[in-house]
Amino acid sequence: MTTSPAQADVPSFPTGGRPRVVIVGSGFGGLFAARALAKAPVDITLIGKTAQHLFQPLLYQVATGILSEGEIAPATREILRRQKNARVVLGEVTTIDVDNRTVTSEILGRATVYEYDELIVAAGAGQSYFGNDQFAEFAPGMKSIDDALELRGRIFGAFELAEIATDPAEIDRLLTFVVVGAGPTGVEMAGQIAELARRTLRRDFRSINPTGARVVLLDAAPAVLPSFGKKLGDRARRQLNEIGVEVQLGAMVTDVDADGLEVKDSDGQVRRIQAATKIWAAGVQASGLGRILGEQTGAEVDRAGRISVQPDLTLPGHPEIHVVGDMMALTKLPGVAQVAIQGGRYAAETIKRRATGKAPQPKPFTYFDKGSMATISRFSAVADIGKFKFSGFIAWVLWLVVHLMYIVGFKSRVTTVLHWMVSFLGRGRSERVATQQQVYGRLALEALGNGWEVSKTGGPKNTSPQGGDPTNRESA
Ligand SMILES: Cc1cc2nc3c(=O)[nH]c(=O)nc-3n(C[C@H](O)[C@H](O)[C@H](O)COP(=O)(O)OP(=O)(O)OC[C@H]3O[C@@H](n4cnc5c(N)ncnc54)[C@H](O)[C@@H]3O)c2cc1C
Repeated sequence: MTTSPAQADVPSFPTGGRPRVVIVGSGFGGLFAARALAKAPVDITLIGKTAQHLFQPLLYQVATGILSEGEIAPATREILRRQKNARVVLGEVTTIDVDNRTVTSEILGRATVYEYDELIVAAGAGQSYFGNDQFAEFAPGMKSIDDALELRGRIFGAFELAEIATDPAEIDRLLTFVVVGAGPTGVEMAGQIAELARRTLRRDFRSINPTGARVVLLDAAPAVLPSFGKKLGDRARRQLNEIGVEVQLGAMVTDVDADGLEVKDSDGQVRRIQAATKIWAAGVQASGLGRILGEQTGAEVDRAGRISVQPDLTLPGHPEIHVVGDMMALTKLPGVAQVAIQGGRYAAETIKRRATGKAPQPKPFTYFDKGSMATISRFSAVADIGKFKFSGFIAWVLWLVVHLMYIVGFKSRVTTVLHWMVSFLGRGRSERVATQQQVYGRLALEALGNGWEVSKTGGPKNTSPQGGDPTNRESA
């Protein structure tokens, strides 16, 4: 089979003399930048690798059957349907040519070149396995809808397989769930698996006792939720223990395979945990677009792939290129949604002022920290808001309200509340479906070879497929 050559189309987007703003990424940075430009005299092209805006903080609820993927990932085009100056296109940006001011995006072998006057790059970050990418096969991360649905299948599937297994060691292996990384994502994931086993599935099986499932939360660091400080970290650890999560700190994962993982403790002892389900919630790697921009502009790129931006979020010598969100490195700002949202809005304001002939923004970008939260289980969370540190029920209510505010769209908010009532007031989980395609699809795609690997941030990988299109479809 031969690969059909990528066609290069230059779209004749009607500019009417207005500045053309290209935004890469439909996550928090990209979407909030696009919305902030709604009234600006510019023409926006938002290029997304996926057709949705993903609310990553609730991915763990998709993975554990509380929410459906649609609730946390509305179509970007639907969100922006009334914004006449914005056009949404699907494609993975593979090249940025800063001298010629063009961006090339690809999908299924078709390449499209977009010219820009202003560029906002908000392509986020993927999972990092710290140089051990081979772990990904056995311990998926949680960065995309694909990841969450695959994990859902693996988690619920482990209980199903345990029900029909006869060897006690095999049952123990199937009912052991290991989450690597005790940051907010790992804590929330471990807490939800424990609740799933002890509340939701309590009465669903005949041969096994799901409440006896072992949930282990591992981290090489000596603390849970280190960014929340010692007091809240200790409380979170206690709350996790109360719901039956085993927290193992100072424990570095040195190997992962289909049957379990190898762990090196801080005293140098190496041990093995037999576990069918492993979840990777440690480490991030910024989009490769940072490196592409760094090579052309001389901006520094750190080990995690984040590109250093100037105080106004642009790149040196390129006031027309703005980088925001998880991809940017600026005064050690954390990779959280508010940094991306506020950065996206700041970049939009810079562009708006330039487009309307106003003076530049007088102040550099400053991040207003609204605080951080993590849920442990139903009715229990920790919240770190300025001087105030909450834990337990009050923190959980705060978490609920804040997350509802940021879910995009009225429909999604209503259905999310209904699903939360089913899961938190009752014992149910309405989203327990997982198909074989969801569980095996990623591995099957990777078996097709280079170019068909699913990227760690969701969507197709950067390269065009080699050996032709196995779907036998012509380029759209
Ligand atoms: C599981 C999880 C839980 C989290 N929980 C919290 C939380 O509770 N609170 C909090 O504040 N933060 C949380 N975060 C972090 C937060 O989600 C990120 O900081 C935020 O999403 C960053 O926004 P962004 O716009 O930089 O990137 P993203 O939101 O990741 O968006 C990047 C976008 O770019 C697209 N893209 C990537 N590469 C390309 C390409 N080459 N071409 C075209 N499009 C591309 C992606 O498809 C995506 O749409 C969590 C993250 C995860 C993964």
